Amino acid sequence: MASITIRELTKVYPGGVRALDALDLDVAMGEFFALLGPSGCGKTTLLRTVAGLETATAGTIALGDRDVTRLQPGRRDVGMVFQDYALFPHMTVLDNIAYPLRIKKESRSVRHARAAEAVQELGLKGLEQRRPGELSGGQQQRVALARAVVANPRIFLLDEPLSNLDARLRLEARTFLKEFQHRVGVTTVFVTHDQAEALALADRIAVMEAGRIRQIGTPTEVFRRPANLFVASFIGSTPMNLLAGTVQSGTVVVAGTSLPVPDEARGRVQDGQEVVCGVRPEYMDFGTEPVDGAFAGRVSVVENLGGSSLVTLDVDGESVRVVVGEGFEVDSGAEGWALPRPGRVLLYRDG
Ligand code: ADP
Ligand code: MG
Repeated sequence: MASITIRELTKVYPGGVRALDALDLDVAMGEFFALLGPSGCGKTTLLRTVAGLETATAGTIALGDRDVTRLQPGRRDVGMVFQDYALFPHMTVLDNIAYPLRIKKESRSVRHARAAEAVQELGLKGLEQRRPGELSGGQQQRVALARAVVANPRIFLLDEPLSNLDARLRLEARTFLKEFQHRVGVTTVFVTHDQAEALALADRIAVMEAGRIRQIGTPTEVFRRPANLFVASFIGSTPMNLLAGTVQSGTVVVAGTSLPVPDEARGRVQDGQEVVCGVRPEYMDFGTEPVDGAFAGRVSVVENLGGSSLVTLDVDGESVRVVVGEGFEVDSGAEGWALPRPGRVLLYRDG
């Protein structure tokens, strides 16, 4: 097990795409770390560069106290699970799993013993002699995990390992993965474009955009306090309300109401300044009676989320979304008030 220390890592592909742009990252020993960002932001490039499958254009990568920036992939002690699993189709499950040990030139008896252990660990007993084509997606994924852990890597890298599974299986596999990482305890970097997956699984998350990291924090931190508008609009199952406002004598005038300037923003903003006011739909209370400081409007849409509902209020032509708990009946066309809870309003000045 090892920590990961990345400094000013840059990757420019032949052709000129700058996939990583002087990126810094520290992952602690034993941590389950998620790299989250939209397609094309450089997540796979970062993983492949850490694994040694791509060479860095500039910058350094250390695993523990060992600088591996120029080391061959096979000498980095890294286990990787690729997005498409990349299993060898002509090999049995057992041979697939034992492959990294063969590369390491372990003896036949060691290979067998370790592969059998990994089979047991990942619940693949009885499937040892099958070929990947004879397995379900979930089973293939577990074979890929087994192959990645069989040689006791110091670092475990997973590139969107759940994205090829259907929705239901994905939830099961997610729980399995979290439990597995906890049990094995190996430092893990997990790539996903799915913010819900990152929030559910990770100890900490780095949110990436265009080859850079825009915020690093625990799931709670990035959800409650997105550091910028990019993170604010990327994190959350229902998008955060982001409303244009103006600061006026200690308040923010926004969407027909005025809210107190949040404590943490005091001193950062001044009268007359234009800001963007962020409030999560989950962090407002909804009612059908007027309330001071609330967004007042007409309900335009009510969407059933299962246990709760997502209500969209038309506030002078602007949409304000609010999540309403179970048991509250509201119809479109009704008048409604959405009151942000104390301490839940964020102010942004730019992207
Ligand atoms: P992600 O995994 O976040 O979707 P990638 O790391 O795959 O992003 O890609 C980052 C950027 O680098 C994209 O613009 C992509 O088109 C480009 N890219 C990825 N691989 C290559 C390659 N082998 N050659 C040239 N450009 C590449
Ligand atoms: Mg990718």
